[in-house]
Amino acid sequence: MAEKTVFQRIIDREIPAEIVYEDAECIAFKDIRPQAPFHVLVVPKRVIPTLNDLSDADAQTIGHLFVAMRTIAAEQGLTGGYRVVVNCGPDAGQEVMHVHFHMVAGRKFGWPPG
Ligand code: 5GP
Repeated sequence: MAEKTVFQRIIDREIPAEIVYEDAECIAFKDIRPQAPFHVLVVPKRVIPTLNDLSDADAQTIGHLFVAMRTIAAEQGLTGGYRVVVNCGPDAGQEVMHVHFHMVAGRKFGWPPG
C-alpha cells in the first residue's frame, strides 16, 4: 500500500494539527508554515493526489470544499476577503500529493502571484 501523505496522517489523527473545521468529506487545519496571518489548508478526506487525478466522481467533493471555505470564512471572521490557491505539479511547487486548497487572509495579496 502507498505510504500515507502527511495530510492523511492528520486526518487519521496520527500527527497533530490545529483543526479549524471538519465534516464528513473534508478537514481544514492551519498550515505549519503560514504565508499570511491566516493560512489554512482545506483537504478532502478522500485521497486525490493532484488536480490532474480528479475524475467526474470527484466534482461534488471539490464543490463541497468551496462551500466549506465559505463556512470557514464566516466562522473565522474573514470580512476583508481571502485568497484560495491550489498548487498542481512541480512547476507550481506542489509539495504534498493530496489535493488541498490554501486559504490565505489577513494581508493584501499581489497580482499576478509570484
Ligand atoms: P503545497 O506546496 O503542496 O501546495 O503545500 C503544502 C503545504 O503543506 C505547505 O504550505 C506546508 O507548509 C504544509 N505542510 C507540510 N507539512 C505539514 C504538516 O505536517 N502540518 C501542517 N499543518 N502543514 C504542513
